[in-house]
Amino acid sequence: MKSDNQICRILAEFGLPPDYADIRGLVPYAEANDLINIGLNPFGMPVHLEPEAGKAWYRMHDSAAEDKIILYPLSGFRSIALQTEIIRNKLNQGWTIEDIMKANAPPGYSQHHSGKALDICTDSVKTPDVAFEKTKAFKWLITYASLFGFILSYPKDNPFGFIYEPWHWYFNKNV
Ligand SMILES: [Zn+2]
Repeated sequence: MKSDNQICRILAEFGLPPDYADIRGLVPYAEANDLINIGLNPFGMPVHLEPEAGKAWYRMHDSAAEDKIILYPLSGFRSIALQTEIIRNKLNQGWTIEDIMKANAPPGYSQHHSGKALDICTDSVKTPDVAFEKTKAFKWLITYASLFGFILSYPKDNPFGFIYEPWHWYFNKNV
């Protein structure tokens, strides 16, 4: 885990105040150091999760398959360094930091750092797209994901100011 100081330096680079996350009601997530590979995403990139979340994913994936529902992992663990790079790249592409912050958490505050967040897609929608909401896979997840410990983090009009992310699920064994 990077120190608060390092996070503050990254926020400052992006022109964000040190208390930016507090204002948004975002909580910090430590980087997972124990990860397992849960397979390739539709683009051929390996996806990693913290072991308990990974095992829960396998159970959920197999249960969906029994119902003829195809679930693909799209994106799992992401380091603070990678989150920083993603934001830098969007800034270089001309995005404003305000718009980036609606779709990406500031470094240190992404659930993906924990290895317990998983972006999920299906055969008909293979990207993080709001169209995923219309798929059978999403309807299956809304009904059954909580049985496997996965919850939808950012529903419509969520209090954190993130866009609606029907693809983003967080493993919380306490649900
Ligand atoms: Zn996500």
